[in-house]
Amino acid sequence: MSDFKKNTDADGVTTITWDTVGKSMNVMSREAMQDLNALIDDALADDAVKGIIITSGKEGSFAGGMDLNVLASIRDESGDNPAQGLFDFTMAGHHMLRKIERAGMDPKTNKGGKPIAAALPGTALGIGLELPLACHRIFAADNPKAKIGLPEIMVGIFPGAGGTTRLVRKLGAMAASPLLLEGKMNDPKKAKAAGVIDEVVPADELLAKAKEWVLSEPKIVKPWDEKGYKMPGGAPYHPAGFMTFVGASAMVNGKTQGVYPAAKALLSAVYEGALVPFDTALKIEARWFTNVLMNPSSSAMIRSLFINKEALEKGANRPEAPDQKVKKVGIIGAGMMGAGIALVSALAGIQVVLIDSSQEAADKGKSYTTAYMDKGISRKKVTEEKKEAVLGLINATTDYAALEGCDLIVEAVFEDVGVKAEVTAKVQAVTGPDCIFATNTSTLPITELAKASNDPEKFIGIHFFSPVDKMLLVEIIKGKATGPVAVAKALDYVRQIRKTPIVVNDERFFYANRCIIPYINEGIRMVKEGVEPALIENAAKLVGMPLGPLQLVDETSVDLGVKIAKATKAAMGDAYPDGEVDEVLFWMFDQNRLGRKSNAGFYAYDDKGKRQGLWDGLTAQYPVADEQPDLTTVQHRLLFAQVLEAVRALEEGVLEDIREGDVGAILGWGFAPWSGGPFSWLDIIGAPYAAERCDQLTAEFGDRFKTPGLLREMADKGQEFYKRFGQSAKAA
Ligand code: NAD
Repeated sequence: MSDFKKNTDADGVTTITWDTVGKSMNVMSREAMQDLNALIDDALADDAVKGIIITSGKEGSFAGGMDLNVLASIRDESGDNPAQGLFDFTMAGHHMLRKIERAGMDPKTNKGGKPIAAALPGTALGIGLELPLACHRIFAADNPKAKIGLPEIMVGIFPGAGGTTRLVRKLGAMAASPLLLEGKMNDPKKAKAAGVIDEVVPADELLAKAKEWVLSEPKIVKPWDEKGYKMPGGAPYHPAGFMTFVGASAMVNGKTQGVYPAAKALLSAVYEGALVPFDTALKIEARWFTNVLMNPSSSAMIRSLFINKEALEKGANRPEAPDQKVKKVGIIGAGMMGAGIALVSALAGIQVVLIDSSQEAADKGKSYTTAYMDKGISRKKVTEEKKEAVLGLINATTDYAALEGCDLIVEAVFEDVGVKAEVTAKVQAVTGPDCIFATNTSTLPITELAKASNDPEKFIGIHFFSPVDKMLLVEIIKGKATGPVAVAKALDYVRQIRKTPIVVNDERFFYANRCIIPYINEGIRMVKEGVEPALIENAAKLVGMPLGPLQLVDETSVDLGVKIAKATKAAMGDAYPDGEVDEVLFWMFDQNRLGRKSNAGFYAYDDKGKRQGLWDGLTAQYPVADEQPDLTTVQHRLLFAQVLEAVRALEEGVLEDIREGDVGAILGWGFAPWSGGPFSWLDIIGAPYAAERCDQLTAEFGDRFKTPGLLREMADKGQEFYKRFGQSAKAA
């Protein structure tokens, strides 16, 4: 069955309807592209056809974009010349879209041709917007929930089906830049104001309006196909254009630190394309697009941020169990985390009981949702009714009896085994035998906490990150006795609240914190050694970490670091390796420099809490050494500190699936997204080089960089993580 259907009415208007079989939103596959191409050929060749409307059979959306698996499979299928395969595929797409755009017009006179309108019922992303951009007029239904844009840059590529070239020709480089470089998405009204689409019409008049236009004998030639076309805002050598391009280049490098190949390639495609006629510009776009697809960073980003992220969200590691959708969740502890968990649960339509030890504290937790909804109202994203509906789902109380009927509990009280045990018993006195009990602990072993439960099989960790409403990752932790139904419940819940799950086993700090703590510690250790703090911070950012290690401590707070250090030392005894780190951390604590929350930390802050620069008292206490390490050494120390921990987590079975290791690292703590995650990074640099580098770092800086056995073995055998851990990418 084809994803595209064609129907011609009595007035000679052909409607081509896109309706991807078996999906709730249209995605472009290779077959679908061929089918569309054939239908366009038919319609253009048919004298009875006066014009064409391209629309969607899905309610509320036009298309979500390209199926990115297609690009990966073309690369893999193209033998020893994958670049040629990708380029040819891209050019075939250009030819089809160009055919739509020219629509049979006489190439010399621009006369004749059939008008083609795009009628978008809603969301139109990626190629779902690039196809309309090739049409002659874009109509969108007035659907405020719809998103219209080109988000390719977020997964490490750029719009390569003509979207880059057409949008720049249509809007000018300056106006197109937030859409192309930041992947900014707009609702239909904003998209019209930005000049991306042409008309916003009531949903029930969408096709009628498009048809009216098609039959109105409109002028269809695109400005760039007319003589004397000038790019809005000026081409690169025009004085205004010059300003734009110089500024954009600086902005891209400032924002991405130069680590994302797609942003640079996009700029090159735009700049070079602006100097030549349209068809040559498309060819240039295709060349740069191929270049990006051939870059290991882009394929790693697509794999982690698109393909594997989606697979995990769809339950790639869900055990066999009946549907475990949550109807009523009890959240114990209405503090920072509990308040956020209540918000995201209620937003998903789940009934919430939010408990704290005083009514005041419970109400305060609920007020977080009120504030969130009010902000949405002020931005016109939320209605009063929606706010009331969401708030109506949250019962803030001190009464444990209200938990009756809950099928999931998420405990988020103080990080204390005794307090958590007491709460567990109190909850289980009310809830039924099928209720799953989850703890949001960030440091305490799940297996230990499960001892307080009357049914450890139904006890699990669901570890959120702060702030809950913004952070996309949820780490699900299986205790020794946790059963499959509890895992399925946690996964179904995470799916309901639209976050991305990873499932890991129960070892100290689970996965995310286990990897991020060594990153922070390595940064602090370097301060102690006399490495210039600015070098540490900038080295981290230049390798794609969103925050330098010192800034990260300031954000999470020095006292939390001290607390974790003390607890870890108590647990590890003489084996504790971080005494040098603690010296700096404890000294900061003694200086009452607790980080952002105290307006004083590794950085200085002004009265309004705005970060100023690194605090000079730091280098007064830990003087900068005369000899400074080179940038790469600092970067390798910071990256290997995290990556080796990820490898150890895999070796020890904390991670069962390297896809989770990569996706979790990027979404959980922002591990250099350009790399695709720690395992992808190791595949990019190669196990032999990684092992060799670890040997050097060990010799110079100590045993924490010792090459893990698994990495050594892979280096000796010349293996890659994604090849070794196979089709399913399972580690086992
Ligand atoms: P918080 O101090 O902001 O909130 C804890 C809440 O629990 C308080 O409102 C407190 O009144 C309430 N509480 C304490 N004892 C209670 C009891 N016996 N019955 C009912 N309510 C009780 O702490 P938080 O930052 O929200 O952290 C909560 C949990 O989440 C901890 O286990 C923490 O380790 C974990 N966690 C925190 C973060 C973070 O970034 N803050 C991230 C992930 C996980």
